[in-house]
Amino acid sequence: MERIVIIGAGQAGVQAAATLRAEGFAGSLTLVGDEPFPPYQRPPLSKAYLAGDFARERLFLKPDSFYTETACDLRLGVPAQSIDRAAKTVRLSDSTALAYDRLLLTTGSRVRKLPIPGADLRGVYYLRGIADVDALRQEFQPGARLAVVGGGYIGLEVAAVAAKHGLKVTVIEAERRLMARTASPQLSAFYEAEHHAHGVQFQFGAMAACFEGEAKVEAVRTDLGRSLADFVLAGVGIVPNCELALAAGLACDNGIAVDEFGATSDPEIFAAGDCTSHPGFAGERIRLESVQNAIDQAKHAALAMLGKGAPYREVPWFWSDQYDLKLQIAGLAHPGDVKIVRGNPASRKFSVFHLREGLVAAVEAVNAAPDYIAGRKLIAARARVAPERIADTNVPAKLLA
Ligand SMILES: Cc1cc2nc3c(=O)[nH]c(=O)nc-3n(C[C@H](O)[C@H](O)[C@H](O)COP(=O)(O)OP(=O)(O)OC[C@H]3O[C@@H](n4cnc5c(N)ncnc54)[C@H](O)[C@@H]3O)c2cc1C
Repeated sequence: MERIVIIGAGQAGVQAAATLRAEGFAGSLTLVGDEPFPPYQRPPLSKAYLAGDFARERLFLKPDSFYTETACDLRLGVPAQSIDRAAKTVRLSDSTALAYDRLLLTTGSRVRKLPIPGADLRGVYYLRGIADVDALRQEFQPGARLAVVGGGYIGLEVAAVAAKHGLKVTVIEAERRLMARTASPQLSAFYEAEHHAHGVQFQFGAMAACFEGEAKVEAVRTDLGRSLADFVLAGVGIVPNCELALAAGLACDNGIAVDEFGATSDPEIFAAGDCTSHPGFAGERIRLESVQNAIDQAKHAALAMLGKGAPYREVPWFWSDQYDLKLQIAGLAHPGDVKIVRGNPASRKFSVFHLREGLVAAVEAVNAAPDYIAGRKLIAARARVAPERIADTNVPAKLLA
């Protein structure tokens, strides 16, 4: 095997390149990206970078020297447009054809756009890349009215930064609580109260129906009423970038379908990161949107391409920063889980353990790193811990595991 091409120069793509070289791959390695930037980390975009506390250079995942030292041919600003599986080539937007022996797709995801009237008005923002934040930040003037559509992680992180900068923030959420898709009701209630304390207003059970305004957005109309807004941030989820794979005839199922080694339905093509769905830790097919998944799955796929594959079965983990609150989550919560609160939310340091059939299945920890670390170990070990023991803060977290 002499030529590996990676499509998608993001978190997973650059990780795979690094792993391939670290594992001794000496053939030609090409990393293709459609953005003008070298691979960068996205989490700070809705946190410290938006707040102006994080220099742009710190976003980049590797120094420029990495690409020369590892002989990684980084091609930026050239979207891959098609894959010819019979000829084993990838065609780029500049008409170059790249030949491959193994191909890795790390095309990530894109924001879901709101298909409502007024969505094209100036002042309606989404957040996925550096350019999005640079544009959004121009609007961050004290006293400005920001309507956030979507009470998920991105929307809430932006709301927190905006509230701290003295903006008037309203969050419009279709569900009855925040982060409803992934978080426990206990966590939702806690974060709602925290945002409220910082002056953030909420409209729950409200569907954004249209954006109103002349040249620029002036209000968001929902099925419940109208909110005035100088600008809008829509954070209503992402869509995996699988069109390239679909057009090439690869199996897709809520993402590019891969096995536990990262192989697609074509054994010479692999995929990793946000763009995939894969057999999850608990057995069900899942699609994850996290740095942990991008890094770990990319490592596994890189090893598998070199014939050193081991199944990818990591416990998923994720974090979110809002105000001075560090939320760390391990495992995937289900609505039917038994939830045990450890610590007092009023102290702003607590966790929620999720038990499924008696086993620890997930933990949500707020400013409680030891609980998170213990929870992760318990999930990996498929451990059974008595609910009273979890709830007893006299038992140190490390003794739970
Ligand atoms: C604002 C924000 C905050 C986040 N915060 C957190 C957090 O706190 N914790 C956490 O765990 N996760 C967080 N995430 C999610 C995390 O950043 C992603 O899960 C991660 O970046 C996924 O890595 P990836 O390599 O799969 O995709 P990406 O990093 O998105 O990289 C994919 C790249 O492929 C490019 N591409 C797509 N199609 C083509 C093509 N045809 N040709 C060439 N290039 C192509 C894309 O433009 C992109 O540059 C956040 C995401 C965002 C947007």
